[in-house]
Amino acid sequence: MSTMSQSSAAARAVIVRDKWSGEVIGELPRAGEREIEQALQAAEQARRRPWPARERAAVLQRAVALLEERRTAVLETMRRETGFSRKDVEQEFARAVVTLTLCAQEALRLGGEVVPLDASPGFEQRLALTIRVPVGIVLAITPFNAPLNTVCHKIGPALAAGNAVILKPAELTPLTAALLAQILDEAGLPEGRLQVLYGSGSEVGLRLLRDPRIGFTTFTGSTEVGAIVKRETGLRPVSLELGSVSATIICADADLERAARDVAHAGYRKAGQVCTSVQSLFVHTSVEREFVERLSAQVAALKSGDPADPATEVGPLISESAAARACALVEEALRSGARVLVGGTCTGTLFQPTLLHEVAPPMRITREEIFAPVVSIVRFERLDEAIEAANASRYGLQAGVYTSSLATALELARRLEVGGVIINGTSSTRADGMPYGGMKDSGFGKEGPAYAIREMTVERLVMLGP
Ligand code: NAD
Repeated sequence: MSTMSQSSAAARAVIVRDKWSGEVIGELPRAGEREIEQALQAAEQARRRPWPARERAAVLQRAVALLEERRTAVLETMRRETGFSRKDVEQEFARAVVTLTLCAQEALRLGGEVVPLDASPGFEQRLALTIRVPVGIVLAITPFNAPLNTVCHKIGPALAAGNAVILKPAELTPLTAALLAQILDEAGLPEGRLQVLYGSGSEVGLRLLRDPRIGFTTFTGSTEVGAIVKRETGLRPVSLELGSVSATIICADADLERAARDVAHAGYRKAGQVCTSVQSLFVHTSVEREFVERLSAQVAALKSGDPADPATEVGPLISESAAARACALVEEALRSGARVLVGGTCTGTLFQPTLLHEVAPPMRITREEIFAPVVSIVRFERLDEAIEAANASRYGLQAGVYTSSLATALELARRLEVGGVIINGTSSTRADGMPYGGMKDSGFGKEGPAYAIREMTVERLVMLGP
């Protein structure tokens, strides 16, 4: 290869680095206009070929078996391209197995309903039913922080429904998605049913969003990009899983030991780079001292550093710019009166697990998603104060509540403006089969195979008559 063609090939490659060592660990072809057009044409052809439910389910089930066979390679790739700890990638892997298995099952359950027409005069002799048909081509755009399970939550239901899928994974962590696509291929996915296009969001992503051949777009990522997705897709349907400043509320009657243990995990896993990560922790004044003591001890014991070390619990952040943003939010909070209980420092991309106290609603850290291992304690006296402060957020993904009172639990379930309220769990608690999604600036639409598959199909009415 000549020097010139080598350098143009490099410019066209997506280069992926180990987020701890900086070493290059993979290169993928960057899609240009030609590749995008080819993918769309192949998807158009594929979606028109028959693909019965039993075959869709069988492919997905075989993919689960192959994924488990390749566990070691997938875990290693995911750990290196994300910088997440071993425990974090193991958890994501285990969840992805559940997600894909549920998708295989949903392929077999997809059905419609019988509509009682005789409520309308003149329709007594007729019968109507609905069938669910694929939307056609589903575009899936995914974020850096869940390179396996979020991808399964999108392509799994889309394929189970009988669509063709074009996946545009995050530019920083596309290698795990590439492995998954290869596994699905080996599992017998028909040609053209899944194509992965690598590259930047502003080029490849935007070009795909605007294409009228895309029937449905499922997007997970930041609220800012979510707004672009909504704008660019016009009248075509979308599902948006966006950002959040998630709240967890510790009431006066909470099981403090359990709450401290859960928050020390949910606020820091994946170095806090989780959309539902505990960011604002509302703690009742009557239990504040005891709870803060317990939680501080747990957070101080978290080991951060090289994700290759099996003892590491908190690895680096995804990029230097992400670390600088998080630092700025913490520094601003400290200048406005917040206090560091644990951590508070950042070296390069390694942000120490941080616990802040004396945080109050006017501070930016209570309003903007930090996406770093930082939990902020906000005290409250009356439950109304905590509810109002949590609801003041522009976001509304999930909230956690610790209480032993059923009345308090029900009141919070009714009043918190979020897509899911978790009682005696943190904002980050999620079972992959449950309906999951937000409101307000956290987006709309539901993940969870049984729910997403409905969004990725059209319910078509068929009226029968003599
Ligand atoms: P991001 O918004 O920067 O990127 C997400 C995806 O969108 C990437 O694939 C990116 O290439 C693509 N993209 C960027 N600009 C685009 C454009 N103009 N047109 C089309 N595509 C474009 O997000 P990120 O930094 O990768 O991930 C972190 C964000 O994702 C956080 O805000 C987090 O809260 C959110 N997130 C939400 C959920 C949820 O379930 N609600 C889950 C995980 C992450």
